[in-house]
Amino acid sequence: MTDIVSRADLALKRDLCDHCLGRAFALVGTGTTNEARGRSARAEVRLERERKGEGLPAHEKCWLCGDIFDSLPRFAEAVIKALSNVEYNNFLVGTRVDPEIQEREERLWSEVGQETAEPIKAELNREIGKIVEARVEKPVEFDTPEVVALIDTRFASVDLDVSPLFIYGRYRKLVRDIPQTRWPCRECRGKGCERCNFTGKMYPASVQEIVGDPIQKAAEGTDHFFHGMGREDIDARMLGTGRPFVVEIREPKRRNLDLRSLENIINDNGRDRVEVISLRPSSREEVRKVKAAAPNKTYRVEVAIHGKVDKAKINEVLQSFKRTRITQQTPVRVAHRRADIAREREIIDLHLDELGEGSFTFVVRTEAGTYVKEFVHGDNGRTRPSLSDAFGVPCEVRALDVIEVNDGTGEE
Ligand SMILES: [Zn+2]
Ligand SMILES: [Zn+2]
Repeated sequence: MTDIVSRADLALKRDLCDHCLGRAFALVGTGTTNEARGRSARAEVRLERERKGEGLPAHEKCWLCGDIFDSLPRFAEAVIKALSNVEYNNFLVGTRVDPEIQEREERLWSEVGQETAEPIKAELNREIGKIVEARVEKPVEFDTPEVVALIDTRFASVDLDVSPLFIYGRYRKLVRDIPQTRWPCRECRGKGCERCNFTGKMYPASVQEIVGDPIQKAAEGTDHFFHGMGREDIDARMLGTGRPFVVEIREPKRRNLDLRSLENIINDNGRDRVEVISLRPSSREEVRKVKAAAPNKTYRVEVAIHGKVDKAKINEVLQSFKRTRITQQTPVRVAHRRADIAREREIIDLHLDELGEGSFTFVVRTEAGTYVKEFVHGDNGRTRPSLSDAFGVPCEVRALDVIEVNDGTGEE
């Protein structure tokens, strides 16, 4: 007797179905099913026993699984019905199995060996998946399924775990005083109070809501999250080719969205406030990239300057900052939420854009993470050197716009 036949003989001291018998040898070879493995092992055991004048009782009811595999079509039907409520391009089946079945399986392994065995869940997932795959004509996806149908085999009830939908784009913010993300009221933390006029929010609108609400509606999702490649100050505009972002929609029922028409809807609703361009499907992986990116940025800054300076002096000072490094102690205005440390940042390029009365506007390109306002006013010596230092008179930022996020994909 080969090892497998003798172990199968041992297993068949109990009544087992072909699935449960074959599953004990699932890892012996590929290209067949556990059921077929079980059938041939059973035939060999029968031959062996007949040679010894012994018999093998006919299969009645599986001691291990109670012939759960007879219900595969019913399970598949329940999964298909649940899946019909959402849009998806691929899926995965998961199974919850009666703990008593799993205990009996482990008992069998302890008797006939576990080295070549596969858990019953794995076979159920696969076999249900095969039937569903053929019926819905969409593939099983193991790594990043758009939806996982989790079936409890005791009740044939199905829970769907729908993966978020990710949409990439770039936004332009054409006005000041709109935050990038939803900002719950500080007083009531979103419940609604007098301070926030019972909106629960510090600001009536945000880029996140202007962009995310229409996408969530189209996707029939339950919530949205906004992952920006950095963020500008609330009072700064975001111009040029915009800032990359990924919107994440939770539990979408639709995921094959018409992104061109969504772009139009967002841009109509957001008219003169927020615009999006280049919407396309994205992924969790891209969220990581967007969050990790540290592109340098170009700003246009309007500066009020106290005291008399002429164009030549301004040009001279700006010129002197080209390709220099400045040291910035965490600004006073963000000290409540950031560690108080000194950072070095590069001022890459800068030039005068416009000269006014007691003011001038300049364009500056800086390394990621530079505090531009502090570079201008000096933050009481916490940023060194600063424009205020260089001019020898106080400078204040009157207005600031991000005019380019130089992530290398703006021209796509
Ligand atoms: Zn069985
Ligand atoms: Zn409030």
